[in-house]
Amino acid sequence: MMEDMNRVCHVMEESEVDVQIRQTKAQPQQASNNNRPTWSNGQCVVAMPNCSMLNPSFDLSLCRAKLENDGFQIPVRDMEAPLKTALDLPSVRRYMVFNSALFHFIMAPVMYVVVWCATFSTLHLFITVSDYWVLCLSVSLVSIFLTTVIIFILHYSNKEINMNVDVRLIQVNERMVKHKLLVAVADWVQSCTGNMKLYFVYWDMSHCLRALTETLEECSFVVNDTQKKLERKMAHLVLVTKDTAVVPEDEGSDVEQQDSNEQRPLLRHEDTGCCTSSSQQEGTKVTTNYSLIPDASLPAQATAYQLLMTYSAAYVKLLVSKRLSGPSHHRLHPQRNHCTTAPLCLCQYIKKKILQ
Ligand SMILES: [Zn+2]
Repeated sequence: MMEDMNRVCHVMEESEVDVQIRQTKAQPQQASNNNRPTWSNGQCVVAMPNCSMLNPSFDLSLCRAKLENDGFQIPVRDMEAPLKTALDLPSVRRYMVFNSALFHFIMAPVMYVVVWCATFSTLHLFITVSDYWVLCLSVSLVSIFLTTVIIFILHYSNKEINMNVDVRLIQVNERMVKHKLLVAVADWVQSCTGNMKLYFVYWDMSHCLRALTETLEECSFVVNDTQKKLERKMAHLVLVTKDTAVVPEDEGSDVEQQDSNEQRPLLRHEDTGCCTSSSQQEGTKVTTNYSLIPDASLPAQATAYQLLMTYSAAYVKLLVSKRLSGPSHHRLHPQRNHCTTAPLCLCQYIKKKILQ
């Protein structure tokens, strides 16, 4: 992930001109369509609805056509290919169905009935009540309380970064940010129907990167404290991947082979920019854990970039579904907020979530 860091920063500086050229090209078309000629951070460029509720998928060719119409020329290797890798798996699709807002909406009354029946049958066995209305009323109250608690937990967990969708979209956003776009999947229930969409939001990362780098540099005199905060808040963000094991070469004598085995590290380290925690060998497959916590040795700008990328999809998901909670007086400090449409911008969200 970090190998692109310098290149991306460089690209972000250079692409100002490219985007201006693209926008001037797109202006006549946009003016005729009565659209805005320029984009501002947080503006939704494309919202692609889900094709099917039972098998979530998005029409990427239509996304491309709409983005091109808005002046965003993105190569296939930066959009379709990483998006298919991230979302086009049966297991990810199943997860999106069972974790969708509509599924939770349907599950709520079912859960209430199940909890009601279970509580009633249990209490009915042990308590002999002459008046059934009292028993029914108390069972209903207990069921309402339990169902509300479960719905609240599900609702709260949906506001957090999601390992199966948001983290999978990090690799997509690493490429899309070069074109000043961020991608996320967001869903909510509207008029009793599910509203799952793939969102492309305009985002110029340079302001947030600069602000977050400055904040991390200010914290540099308490570097251990900052690192401890990152480790505490991001400890659950661990990616588990299965790689093919590296088979040691059979050539050479037994002594040489023994030597090579002794010199071979027990924990295989991958050059990904993220720190590697552990690996377990199972036959020819090796299960490797990658932690998303930025390495303590990284410079402030690289750490800031990694944090911005890690939380990009989760932030956009909350931004488009209007679930970002921030200070109500945000308009008093517009210079600190790099997003015009939300109470918090991406760097402020990370500062609030991780660094406070
Ligand atoms: Zn910002």
